[in-house]
Amino acid sequence: MRKRVLIGVVLGVPLAAMTAAAILFALALISPAQVPAYVIRIVLPGRTDAIGLPRVEGPADASRPLVVIDAGHGGHDPGASGQHGEKEKMVTLKLALALRDALLADGRVRVALTREGDRFLALEERSGIARRLKADLFVSIHADASESPDATGATVYTLSDRGSDAVADAVARRENKADMVNGVKLGGKSDAVTAILVSLSQREMRERSKAFAALVLREGEGKVRFHTDPEREAAFVVLKSLDLPSALIEAGYISSPDDASELANPGWRKGFAASVASAIEIYLARTTVAPGA
Ligand SMILES: [Zn+2]
Repeated sequence: MRKRVLIGVVLGVPLAAMTAAAILFALALISPAQVPAYVIRIVLPGRTDAIGLPRVEGPADASRPLVVIDAGHGGHDPGASGQHGEKEKMVTLKLALALRDALLADGRVRVALTREGDRFLALEERSGIARRLKADLFVSIHADASESPDATGATVYTLSDRGSDAVADAVARRENKADMVNGVKLGGKSDAVTAILVSLSQREMRERSKAFAALVLREGEGKVRFHTDPEREAAFVVLKSLDLPSALIEAGYISSPDDASELANPGWRKGFAASVASAIEIYLARTTVAPGA
């Protein structure tokens, strides 16, 4: 927490300086005689407005459906930690890469990753990548944590205006914290009219997302150990997309010794990836039709 406050202060100082510079410049425009002979440029550390788009892999045919896989956390945001110092950001990256490999081996859909290395992305940049690539599905991969060592198994979350229960809310709050580090408020700019349109669109997307979540559970049956309450809804910022079905999969509890050893096992990750890949392929085959097919 202390680190986050510190980062906020470090980001806040140049932001305040930039605001002051913008006001001075606006005043200068009002009275042309006082236009300064120089311009102050302040570069925000480590942030840009438009990040580059990742490469799209898989079949060259652009009519094939596209899934964007998002490895949760990264960079200065480690996510949850295991009892032996395992970091969620590394577990999610390995799972995302395994899922990418499984999908590419099957060759049915196109795939892009929000990150392939240990780097930070703001939450809305992640779903933003999927929107800009006009993806058909967005899947964010995480690993859960709980103070109870008995909490085990995978959970599939879809977006809700409100969480389906207090536990779901707590998980959403923890995952959403990553954007507060960024120090810049992203999103939340809609007026009353767009709010209605957004609401209708999101209702449709929630239904599609739930259909995908059900497939993840079905395809994982007997292969992936799920939480006793495996399908939930929560208010995840990363899933707040207007026109994109999406789900957040907590692959297991990094805080559970049993789950942590599975998450660290390449063979287990491969099995997990195969079942999620199967759900993705079935979902996309059902919901997207290639031109001329
Ligand atoms: Zn997470």
